[in-house]
Amino acid sequence: MNALAATSRNFKQAAKLLGLDSKLEKSLLIPFREIKVECTIPKDDGTLASYVGFRVQHDNARGPMKGGIRYHHEVDPDEVNALAQLMTWKTAVANIPYGGAKGGIGCSPGDLSISELERLTRVFTQKIHDLIGIHTDVPAPDMGTNAQTMAWILDEYSKFHGYSPAVVTGKPVDLGGSLGRDAATGRGVLFATEALLAEHGKGIAGQRFVIQGFGNVGSWAAQLITEAGGKVIKHSAENRGIKGFDGGDAVDPTSLLTEECDVLIPAALGGVINKDNADAIKAKYIIEAANHPTDPEADEILAKKGVLILPDILANSGGVTVSYFEWVQNIQGFMWDEEKVNRELKTYMTRAFRDTKEMCRSHHCDLRMGAFTLGVNRVARATVLRGWEA
Ligand code: GLU
Repeated sequence: MNALAATSRNFKQAAKLLGLDSKLEKSLLIPFREIKVECTIPKDDGTLASYVGFRVQHDNARGPMKGGIRYHHEVDPDEVNALAQLMTWKTAVANIPYGGAKGGIGCSPGDLSISELERLTRVFTQKIHDLIGIHTDVPAPDMGTNAQTMAWILDEYSKFHGYSPAVVTGKPVDLGGSLGRDAATGRGVLFATEALLAEHGKGIAGQRFVIQGFGNVGSWAAQLITEAGGKVIKHSAENRGIKGFDGGDAVDPTSLLTEECDVLIPAALGGVINKDNADAIKAKYIIEAANHPTDPEADEILAKKGVLILPDILANSGGVTVSYFEWVQNIQGFMWDEEKVNRELKTYMTRAFRDTKEMCRSHHCDLRMGAFTLGVNRVARATVLRGWEA
C-alpha cells in the first residue's frame, strides 16, 4: 500500500477511536504547506543535472515544524507527505513542542560526488530558506543525509538570515550539534525495546535480534543492543555502519525479515513488511526503527499471529527527541554533556511508552493505535485551543 494511504488509514482509525469531529479530522489531515522546487546544478564534468526537491510542512499546532531531509531515488510527493504527517504524530507522542515536516530530493546520493552533493544542498536551501527557520520549520538528517548536509544548510541559510545554528539539528558537534545526537535514534530504539520487553518480564540480554538496515539507525541499534547483552544473530549484508559493527551473520536484506528470532528490527525503507511476507514472520516482537515499515494489511495478519509491534512514531522518536535537546541547547547557548543527553532521552522514551500504554488501556487498542491516539489527541487539543478565527 502506498505510504500516504497507509499513514492516513492509521490516522483515520485513531480519529475514529478518539471520536474526533469530522471537520477537525479533515483539517488535521491536510498539510499546512507543500513546497516543490527545481534544483539544477553543474556536475563535476560540467554538464547540468536537474533534481526535484520537496518540503512538506504538515502541522504546526504544537510548535515549529520538525523533520528530516531525505536524499533517495524513491523520494516522491506522496512519500514525503506521509513522512511529514508521521512527524506530527511522532513529536506529539514524544511530547516535545514541535509539529511535523519532512523534505527530500529525488536523487541517488551514492552517485554524486561530495562537491555535487554540496552544490545540490545549497541550491535546495536557497529555494526554501524563506520557509524554514528556528521558530517555523527545523530540518534534520534522514536517509541519505548526515551532519555534513546539515552544516551546508546552516551555512547557506546563514548567508540570508545571519548565523543561526538552531535552524537545523543533527549538525556536527563543532557547529553546535548535540553530543549523543548521532546515536540517538538507535539509543531510543534500545530504550523503547527495553520498556516493551520489561512489560513481559524480559530484558535485552539473551534475546535474539534480527536487524534489517545498516545506515545510521540500524548500525547504532545493533551496537547498543549488543553492548546491552542482546544477541544480534543476523543483519543486512550491506554494512555501511560508521562503527563498523561486525557481530552477527550478514545475509540478504529481504530474507532477513522472515528469519527465526525473538525481536525483528526493520531499520531501512518503508513498506518492507506487507501482506506477502507477514505470515512468514517468526519474530515475537517487531520494533519499527524505520518509518512506516509495516503495511496496515500486514498489521492485521501479525495481530492474528500474536506478534507485538512497537510502532515507528514511538520506537524511532529518539532521533527527533535529541534534535529537540540540540535546539534547546542552541537557544540557551549552553552545551549539555553526553550523559545528560542520554539520561533525558531515556526519560522521554520511557514516558512516551507509558503514555502509549495508557491509551491502549483506555481505548482497548494495540500499540500502534495507542501511539496514534496519543499523538493525534495532543495535536487535536492544541488545534482546538488555538482556534480558527481568521
Ligand atoms: N529524520 C528523523 C525522523 O524521521 C529525525 C527528524 C528530526 O530530528 O527532526 O524522525
